[in-house]
Amino acid sequence: MKENALRGPGLLFVVSGPSGAGKDTLVDALRARMPRLRYSVSATTRPPRPGEIEGLSYYFLTPQSFQEIEAQGGFLETKTYNGNLYGTPRSYVEQNLIEGYDVIMKPDVDGALAVQRAFPQAALIFLLPDKFSYLQERLTARRTESNEEIAARLAIAHEEIAQARAFDYLVINEQSNFPGAVDDLEAILRAERHRIHRYDDSTLKRLEHS
Ligand code: 5GP
Repeated sequence: MKENALRGPGLLFVVSGPSGAGKDTLVDALRARMPRLRYSVSATTRPPRPGEIEGLSYYFLTPQSFQEIEAQGGFLETKTYNGNLYGTPRSYVEQNLIEGYDVIMKPDVDGALAVQRAFPQAALIFLLPDKFSYLQERLTARRTESNEEIAARLAIAHEEIAQARAFDYLVINEQSNFPGAVDDLEAILRAERHRIHRYDDSTLKRLEHS
């Protein structure tokens, strides 16, 4: 199955970076611009935050059902992040790539690197704000985490930034220019689609003889 997915015509984009970097808003804005892009909804055992919707934000699972799916090989990768389980459902990603759809996901940094091992052609994009202190400001402003939780997320952020060089791209989400970050992300997707190896010889021949 994995082999088929690797040969599938769809492209896989992985947006990662520390909690508070703006992954959710950025990917939402990109999806509004690129409606054919398929978004891989993750599963988690974390309780829903206000406004989060089952099946759109996450699949909210009990630890037991998460572990059952994991035991059946249903996840591409899983991660315990700050005491909760998170995982990328395998079949949605593989099926869409085979069908030719581009897929985007936003796991944590370890998850992104695990996805890269499964799909070496995936494009990995690291997102950072233009100041580290903005991470804390954003996490505080959204009022969904306790102070301890925020402190834990900031400590994890330093470990995550240490792994940024394993990624293919860096996007800086400037506080005063959010649309600029969406433009940059869109440019990366468009450029990836135009890499010469994405086109087979028959396409070049057809163009040559048209
Ligand atoms: P949050 O609780 O803020 O929604 O997510 C916490 C962290 O888990 C974020 O860094 C988020 O990107 C990451 N995350 C969300 N879904 C997945 C997933 O399926 N796999 C992994 N490895 N990380 C995930």
